[in-house]
Amino acid sequence: MPIITTRKTPWTVLDPDERRRNFQEVDRGYTLAQAEAEALRCLRCQDPACQRGCPVGVPIRDFIGFIVEGDLAAAYRRILEVSRLPAICGRVCPQERQCEGACVISGKQEPVSIGRLERFVADWAREHAIQAGEPPSTRLSHKAAVVGSGPAGLVCAYDLATLGYQVTIFEGLNAIGGILAYGIPDFRLPKDVVREIVDDLQEAGVEVKTGTVVGKTVTIDQLANDLGYEAVFIGVGAGVPNALGAPGEDLKGIYTANELLAWLNLKGDTALKEAIARTNLAQPGEEPPRIGRRVAVIGSGDAAMDAVQTALRLGAEEAHVVYRRTINEMTAHLEAYHHALEEGVQFHWLTLPVRFLGDDQGWVRAMECLRMELGEPDESGRRSPVPVEGSEFIMEVDTVITAIGFSANTLALAQAVGIETDRRGRVLIDAETGATSRQGVFAGGDIVRGPATVIQAMGDGRQAAAAIHRYLQTKAAARAG
Ligand SMILES: Cc1cc2nc3c(=O)[nH]c(=O)nc-3n(C[C@H](O)[C@H](O)[C@H](O)COP(=O)(O)OP(=O)(O)OC[C@H]3O[C@@H](n4cnc5c(N)ncnc54)[C@H](O)[C@@H]3O)c2cc1C
Ligand code: SF4
Repeated sequence: MPIITTRKTPWTVLDPDERRRNFQEVDRGYTLAQAEAEALRCLRCQDPACQRGCPVGVPIRDFIGFIVEGDLAAAYRRILEVSRLPAICGRVCPQERQCEGACVISGKQEPVSIGRLERFVADWAREHAIQAGEPPSTRLSHKAAVVGSGPAGLVCAYDLATLGYQVTIFEGLNAIGGILAYGIPDFRLPKDVVREIVDDLQEAGVEVKTGTVVGKTVTIDQLANDLGYEAVFIGVGAGVPNALGAPGEDLKGIYTANELLAWLNLKGDTALKEAIARTNLAQPGEEPPRIGRRVAVIGSGDAAMDAVQTALRLGAEEAHVVYRRTINEMTAHLEAYHHALEEGVQFHWLTLPVRFLGDDQGWVRAMECLRMELGEPDESGRRSPVPVEGSEFIMEVDTVITAIGFSANTLALAQAVGIETDRRGRVLIDAETGATSRQGVFAGGDIVRGPATVIQAMGDGRQAAAAIHRYLQTKAAARAG
């Protein structure tokens, strides 16, 4: 009889001294024995709170039940009924704020390690070549266009193709996967995991046109009016990095997290780098970022953690995270924060850089910072930081990476008539269907929500695919009748 513990079954993690100089995946996941032990910790609740905590309602209780019964293929298929990206979501979802945060056993004991179990099932299915589904037996005459190949676009395209539609993805970069491909580094999400999804997509018959910037190379109007696409899904993300707006921000040695991560992920792919530079989609800059001895990353989200751990791996001797609020308002995964701490990253809470100082060659050499304290909650519901008078101090740095959020990329909407957006450029949709104000055009993911999560983008893509299916069926019926 196995012993059921109050703590999550431990898993293997690369040693911090070893991993801080390479890009191998840090978290090695569960073995079969570890997964079985962890699955036994689940109570198989009649009313599973974990499922309500998941933005797309993955049937967590059921798939864990299949692990206990030793039927891993059934566990995989049960997850796929709701989520197309378990190998990715198992790795990158903020489970502590979603399913695991809602798990009934958390509090007195640690929640069930749902993310790691999901990842285990997906990796097992990959190793055992379990098919995600059958390619459609018939092809319908309707054509659908998907703009952007992030998780929203990938899943929308996949679902439509499996329903039999002729689907083409138009992607501005020469890589498929959006932030999964050019943003999240290998040490958190190895590229072969993303490639696997892309292979599934191509097997399902989706055509992918990379290097095609919608709004520039071709417009949405042309797709809909001239090229015969009866439905268009917009999943172009929110890839424009926000600027701090502080004096000296244009000094050499100051980069955005996007620039750094895109260079790293797309390293060696000259055509891709040129495409990015041309389209300004991911903005990796003209030259590879120069990582100095003392690096400061500004921000506290996933991009900040990815950037600071990347800087260490690229040779920084000291890596600092500077954030104007406290650890309680930090938006990154708790686990990523712990990994960064283990690797020696130093965190400076309640600290705001207000000016960058450079040398006579124009390279950044220091930041003037202010100490902050927390005041009243702002529109995000988080207590807003207020400067402490007379608290200025200088922090010496030779590289700065800003990771203070992203805004909508509206290039795809250029010359497209009738698609309403809000004042931040986010596309307005019907929450139930993803339909925009223009008939036949749907949208989802970060271009609608602003910077959000992979699983929300995936859920939006799936919801829109179902709505597009209904839309095209209704149209076909009206034509026939
Ligand atoms: C560094 C980083 C780390 C992150 N870590 C996590 C994490 O751990 N967990 C998590 O849940 N979320 C994470 N996120 C957020 C998550 O990646 C996004 O919410 C998600 O990728 C949004 O998906 P999307 O499909 O809407 O857009 P994206 O993934 O941004 O993809 C949009 C695609 O559209 C393309 N595109 C843009 N404009 C055009 C155009 N005009 N024509 C053609 N193509 C175009 C882009 O090139 C891109 O490929 C992270 C984000 C970043 C930046
Ligand atoms: S809430 Fe926790 S214990 Fe209950 S079914 Fe979900 S994972 Fe299992």
